[in-house]
Amino acid sequence: MIIQPKTRGFICTTAHPEGCAKQVEEQVDYVKAQPAIKGPKNVLVVGASTGYGLASRITAAFGSGANTVGVFFDKAAEGQRTASAGWYNSAAFEQEAQAQGLKSFSIVGDAFSDGIKSATIELIKAELGTVDLVVYSVASPRRTHPVTGETFSSVIKPVGEAYTNKTLNFHTGEVSFTTIEPATEDEVTQTIAVMGGEDWRLWIQQLSEAGVLAQGATTVAYSYIGPEITHAIYREGTIGKAKNHLEQTAKELHGLLSRNGGRAFVSVNKALVTQSSSAIPVVPLYISALYQVMKEKGLHENCIQQIYRLFSEHLYPAGESALDGSALIRIDDWEMRADVQEEVMKRWSELETGNVTELADLEGYREDFFQLFGFKTAGVDYEADVDPAVAIPNQS
Ligand code: NAD
Repeated sequence: MIIQPKTRGFICTTAHPEGCAKQVEEQVDYVKAQPAIKGPKNVLVVGASTGYGLASRITAAFGSGANTVGVFFDKAAEGQRTASAGWYNSAAFEQEAQAQGLKSFSIVGDAFSDGIKSATIELIKAELGTVDLVVYSVASPRRTHPVTGETFSSVIKPVGEAYTNKTLNFHTGEVSFTTIEPATEDEVTQTIAVMGGEDWRLWIQQLSEAGVLAQGATTVAYSYIGPEITHAIYREGTIGKAKNHLEQTAKELHGLLSRNGGRAFVSVNKALVTQSSSAIPVVPLYISALYQVMKEKGLHENCIQQIYRLFSEHLYPAGESALDGSALIRIDDWEMRADVQEEVMKRWSELETGNVTELADLEGYREDFFQLFGFKTAGVDYEADVDPAVAIPNQS
């Protein structure tokens, strides 16, 4: 079938298998062109199929020669419906990894469930023995609690009072003002239950109790802080409360793991176009302006560049580790540089529909968005007939 993008707001309901494979290949090539990392050898990535999790799996495998287990929630193709992008990405990843002689396994299902945790533990026991790095990169709108069976939904809202700011419809290029009403207390609690650290802690506890965490194992999860203008909707909003919980969890896990020489961190990453970030009001306009400024200054990085830097400079540096023992690693340092932020803020006050293509990188945003689903990728013939049914080699 001929696969074209079909968008509904910030969602694209189709994905292109060859485009996704090409995107994965480009990330693999980037990592292979960098100096090798003396890093982990057996890695579990939870939330491994897109965005920062996929970049982590690729960096571990092709930067450090690691065997990997990826856990993710994606759908296979069915009839005329294409698979989701994460499915095609993972199929391409597995092929590349196996061609390189690396072991790789994919577990498709709900990472929040006990069943998927047990299946992952059994797989690690059978195939790898232990893992020495666990990356937790799940971004989800809902979570069913494994013990109580209660389903929680996360919302992206301010806390305390309504918030008004500029936002962007990146399809049309229209800049308008949006007002978001504050979250209720229950919405804050539910967002923390979905995006806070509880599930990460459960993973580490269960892996540890099952004896599949190697001596000295490291774990890392991802967070965001961002500039003043997005604080009300992000860092001081519902999602920020969840990130506070995640960061607190890192301290607890560090206490637990350090008894065996292990470590737990939260890495604060740069704002980038992913399926999750495109759903947050205000953020796509901020990212478009940020991209333009960072590209002009030669500072722009994508997911794979960010994660390669995280591994090679922070988690597994060649020389002495610069980590100061605090649970937070900042790879958002270039985004938060004073000169970058000053320029973005200057543009922010002027941004409107008439000047958005001049002051912000709307084209770059759109390109990144469509590339998430395997579209707008050089070297792919989008008029050609392709089979949407693609198997993931080592999937359970
Ligand atoms: P993403 O949407 O690209 O990836 C989310 C991953 O989670 C996918 O692999 C998906 O399959 C998986 N997933 C979702 N629900 C699942 C479930 N129930 N079971 C198993 N897997 C599930 O998101 P992302 O932007 O890469 O976000 C990853 C982390 O990075 C999040 O913690 C996010 O807050 C953080 N982060 C993102 C940005 C950004 O700008 N995108 C910046 C800093 C930090």
